[in-house]
Amino acid sequence: MIQLNEIRKSYNTEFTSLEVLKGIDLTINEGEFVSIMGSSGSGKSTLLNILGILDEYDSGEYLLDGRLIKNLTQTQAAQYRNKFLGFVFQSFNLLSFKMAWENVALPLYYQKVDRAIRKERAIEYLDKVGLKDWANHYPNQMSGGQQQRVAIARALITEPRVILADEPTGALDTQTSYDVMNIFKEVHEQGMTVIIVTHEEDISAKTQRVIRLQDGDIISS
Ligand code: ADP
Ligand code: MG
Repeated sequence: MIQLNEIRKSYNTEFTSLEVLKGIDLTINEGEFVSIMGSSGSGKSTLLNILGILDEYDSGEYLLDGRLIKNLTQTQAAQYRNKFLGFVFQSFNLLSFKMAWENVALPLYYQKVDRAIRKERAIEYLDKVGLKDWANHYPNQMSGGQQQRVAIARALITEPRVILADEPTGALDTQTSYDVMNIFKEVHEQGMTVIIVTHEEDISAKTQRVIRLQDGDIISS
């Protein structure tokens, strides 16, 4: 599903150059449940943003489902993201003035799906994350764990092939974190490729495979 060959990435300012990814080689197969684990500053988010086609790399090759992801236009990048990828972030990124179902339905709004069908599908996906009864609540009426489950439902509603999550449990207490990891496990069991970035050992231990990043290098995978 994902193949990286010798991926390098530096951040350059006028005076300095910081090499953040130092030649990453990595294969992630369809249906895997993996974590990318490393301490703060090791390059996890940089790597995930490249996988998510949110950022470009300097050299090497990234193949997503056999397609070379390189020098894409904004439109092509958006098309690949919409077709293949679902995103979950540490801070949930829900719209506070929209109800849970409206947040979940948002990607379908951009696909110009009719409102009645959007609502029906959104409630179906809220049901998958155990929140059917919360469809008409606003984010500030829900706990952090519930909000993250809404965000996961929103990521799933377009039926992506890969879910990318950057520190999805970073704002949650331990038990709630494990509940959220159980949702990701169920998503994986339904056949999706799930990639979780974390700096917490106990979170990475919930995944099938741990890819360890240290100072921009993979030290084990
Ligand atoms: P992690 O997610 O593992 O904490 P990041 O990928 O966010 O690590 O960052 C890796 C390194 O790159 C850090 O030293 C960080 O300060 C630096 N960095 C990240 N983004 C930028 C940027 N846009 N410009 C300059 N330096 C950056
Ligand atoms: Mg990060």
